[in-house]
Amino acid sequence: MISAQEFKEEVRMLAKDVGVEPKEIHIREMKTKWASCSSRGRLTFDKSLLDEPREVRFQVILHELLHLKYPNHGKMFNVMLETYLEKYN
Ligand SMILES: [Zn+2]
Repeated sequence: MISAQEFKEEVRMLAKDVGVEPKEIHIREMKTKWASCSSRGRLTFDKSLLDEPREVRFQVILHELLHLKYPNHGKMFNVMLETYLEKYN
């Protein structure tokens, strides 16, 4: 398990790489999903992600970060997500 601090550092590191600036990063218990992002750049992640392996954390983080650039799951979103996942594999 990693700390909330370490998790936020991963988010900031990946955000820099993607080229987005999340306004706020929150970690709390979410009952129904891994993460969410608001249109104003506020990201919220489920606490249980801290227990997940790096691949899972990065997949969820990159998914949310890319939503700051691409609001939907269109072609460009998927291409970029694939590209970043391969980079950090
Ligand atoms: Zn999504």
